[in-house]
Amino acid sequence: MGGFGSGRPNGSGRPKAESCRSLDVNRLHHEGCLRAGWYGIWQWMRDGERVAWINLLAAFDHLDLTYRVRIGGGDWEDISESVRIVHAGCSYGGARPYFICPGVVKGRVCGRRVTRLYVPGRYFVCRHCNRLSYASQSEGGLDRILRRANKMRQRLGGDPGMASSFPMRPKGMWQRTYERLRRRTVGIETCASEAMGRHIGKLKVRIAATNRKRSFCR
Ligand SMILES: [Zn+2]
Repeated sequence: MGGFGSGRPNGSGRPKAESCRSLDVNRLHHEGCLRAGWYGIWQWMRDGERVAWINLLAAFDHLDLTYRVRIGGGDWEDISESVRIVHAGCSYGGARPYFICPGVVKGRVCGRRVTRLYVPGRYFVCRHCNRLSYASQSEGGLDRILRRANKMRQRLGGDPGMASSFPMRPKGMWQRTYERLRRRTVGIETCASEAMGRHIGKLKVRIAATNRKRSFCR
């Protein structure tokens, strides 16, 4: 399976579209990768070496992408994304393919017709979604706050993770200190689980969008 060793974005924390790896629908079309039933690998090279690659499977009106990503040095994650393809007429006749951006921003599917998708985080999205505060960034934030909550649990002698029962007050710790840490940890975890719920909601919207009746746009 293809892989992206995606590090943490530099500086402002928001990668510029140009610095991200991208997929160009016209190039894929010219290489024959959009023909229904075609499958294979698309790769990115630097100085003659393959630095990233993804698996593609083309269908009549969409392209399935499967790959692995690694955000900020974390664990590798398997990702499957389905991108709708439409063909629209050109002013000089004929039809050319476009991606329909599967990005989800603030709970809404983007759906823009674009020729290029970037991968600023886990998913391939259009330039516009890439510029906005994209889900991958809030997911990154989620990881950070959960790590903070886990640290507090461990400081109290417990196990990390919301699934573990909350640790008892360690011997020698003031009740007041313990209550303060407990309130803070539970507060963080409640925030995180709400954010996670929102993220799952976005994923559901994304899946519904790809399953929606597909039609050619001319
Ligand atoms: Zn978009």
